Amino acid sequence: RADVIDGEAVAAQVRETVAETVERLQSAGVTPGLATVLMSDDPASETYVRMKQRDCADVGIESRHVELDTDAPQSELFETIEELNDDPAIDGILIQRPLTDSVDEPAALRRVDPAKDVDGFHPENVGRLVTGDPRFVPCTPLGIQRLLVEAGVELPGADVVVVGRSELVGKPLANLLLNRGDDADATVTVCHSKTDDLAAHTARADVVVVAAGVPELVTGEMLSSGSTVIDVGINAVGEGDDRKLIGDVDYESASQVVDAITPVPGGVGPMTRAMLLKNTVQAAARQADVELETE
Ligand code: NAD
Repeated sequence: RADVIDGEAVAAQVRETVAETVERLQSAGVTPGLATVLMSDDPASETYVRMKQRDCADVGIESRHVELDTDAPQSELFETIEELNDDPAIDGILIQRPLTDSVDEPAALRRVDPAKDVDGFHPENVGRLVTGDPRFVPCTPLGIQRLLVEAGVELPGADVVVVGRSELVGKPLANLLLNRGDDADATVTVCHSKTDDLAAHTARADVVVVAAGVPELVTGEMLSSGSTVIDVGINAVGEGDDRKLIGDVDYESASQVVDAITPVPGGVGPMTRAMLLKNTVQAAARQADVELETE
């Protein structure tokens, strides 16, 4: 049976390093600050924002929350973003997505100062990732890369198949692993909903990362022994007491075949949260011109 890659344990290490960095910044007179902006009635988004604030408190990052009415004009959101851009106490700005429908979301993300864009969604940060000079990398891909490194996967030269081409996960992950470096230099294939014969790709990969949002899309039959599987999917299935979260990989059949696999929950999810903290302290260090040792 496959080894289980413990995202909670790796995330705890990341948080510990972040907490140490916060202490070092504080001794240099800097307290990192993250602003979260919510303009949505989506209960899941409200929960995510609360979790992010709690995560910040645990490591000594100050957080400030701004909540806007969903029927407020778009200009109010833009003004809020401008104020946060100009506020020296705020190092990172997180616009919780999805924003309410009446708002032009890409326009809102473009308003965030790229130096405070800890989610890595501003086109300037996307461009820097693609051109091999990353500043802020989106948290989920960053967490996945760290999990692969911690699991001992030799990424240089590895055949990595990414299932999903979203701007949030698939595309930035493909770019990250394609860049140069000991924790990258992979041969990356990106599959998506129009891919012909997904199984032919997944079966020959050393690493399969599935971010499709389709419950149990990838099964053991589509995978090979010796491979490592990262399951990004979070799908709620069942009702009432039977309600549970499952991934985009059929864990039971996959774990009979592959070498190592992430569970859902407890794999990529905690890493995404931890990487937001890491990006925030890096933003604070850069803005205060404090040199941090790289890990
Ligand atoms: P998305 O819906 O934006 O993108 C899904 C991608 O999967 C698309 O590019 C699509 O082409 C591809 N796809 C869909 N069906 C497919 C199929 N049958 N075969 C091959 N490709 C297919 O989703 P997203 O934002 O990238 O999120 C993907 C999943 O990851 C969701 O379940 C989401 O909840 C989860 N997620 C988890 C975390 C985390 O921290 N664990 C973070 C972000 C997203």
